Amino acid sequence: MDEKKRIVFNQETDEDQVYSLSLRPANIQEFIGQDELVDNLRVSIEAAKLRKEPVEHMLFSGPPGLGKTSLANIVAHEMGARIAITSGPSITRAGDLIGILTNLELGDVLFIDEIHRLSKPVEEFLYPAMENFKIDFIVDKGPYAKTINFNLKPFTLIGATTRSGLLAAPLRDRFGIFHHLEFYSPEVLSRIILRSSQKLNVTLSQEAAFAIASRARGTPRIANRLLRRVRDFSQVKMPDGDIDQDVVNQAMRSLGIDEKGLDDCDRRLIKLIHEHYKGGPVGVEALAATLNEEVDTIVDVVEPYLLKIGFLKRTQRGRELTPLSVRHMKDPSPKNNKVQEGLI
Ligand code: ADP
Repeated sequence: MDEKKRIVFNQETDEDQVYSLSLRPANIQEFIGQDELVDNLRVSIEAAKLRKEPVEHMLFSGPPGLGKTSLANIVAHEMGARIAITSGPSITRAGDLIGILTNLELGDVLFIDEIHRLSKPVEEFLYPAMENFKIDFIVDKGPYAKTINFNLKPFTLIGATTRSGLLAAPLRDRFGIFHHLEFYSPEVLSRIILRSSQKLNVTLSQEAAFAIASRARGTPRIANRLLRRVRDFSQVKMPDGDIDQDVVNQAMRSLGIDEKGLDDCDRRLIKLIHEHYKGGPVGVEALAATLNEEVDTIVDVVEPYLLKIGFLKRTQRGRELTPLSVRHMKDPSPKNNKVQEGLI
């Protein structure tokens, strides 16, 4: 299955990008939820401002779509600084970083998404830049080669990663501030959805917002995407009515998304483990091969939410289904999932 075609896909699609300017929280007040993290961030920002220094380098970790890029933009905004945005896979050689780093002004933010995917040489090139705001690079080749030392202006590096465990220890140690983003509760997602609905000029009831939120897999990016699909559905099918819970339920049914926010891809995975592997344990490589998916896709995209809601267990011998997911497959109505209420 093409992951990007999934409505409940947690990575950014082209359509998300179109809406990212209007829906992304512009400042720290607009960032909803993650209260403890935001409180700590405020303190770091205020303290840095008092010291008239850039904020310390920060690492944000957590599944895609929870707000890491938004927070990096917010830090820059609150510090009155500019932000340069790049990502681990797009920096292929250390040389790619020279231009970016030497163009940074005092206090600017450099945001590196998917920082765990930087290559070793690029990572090592970053160490002195992070530590002493210096870089060394070699110009010319052979007997004419010489090393040039360059002093950078103090800046803040913000890294984002979906897998902090994959980050090399020397890189991790060079960050002063760590924040892990958790999945959002349906209550908090409802507030995000209501705020986005105002920005999109859509009227929807509290109950409708909650019905979308409970299917959004704890992820604001998915919440906003489901809201847009519900808006489209109501514009076409019931152009005169406001959006209530019933409209949301109908829209979700037409998209094949159940009460827990699971779609065909999740159901295929659960069914496969249930029928083919007798409930598990089964190694992720075997699952990926049978489903014709990348291992990374299963690990980063499909399973974190299933693990979070207790539908899947990760054991040393592989992935195992829980009785909850088996029951849910037989009857996906919410009454059957009572046990999980309050889990996220
Ligand atoms: P990540 O970098 O973790 O993949 P993003 O910062 O790109 O996630 O967030 C995806 C989208 O979700 C944003 O454009 C924004 O619209 C929305 N979003 C994320 N977190 C929040 C939040 N806490 N409050 C409001 N909207 C949010």
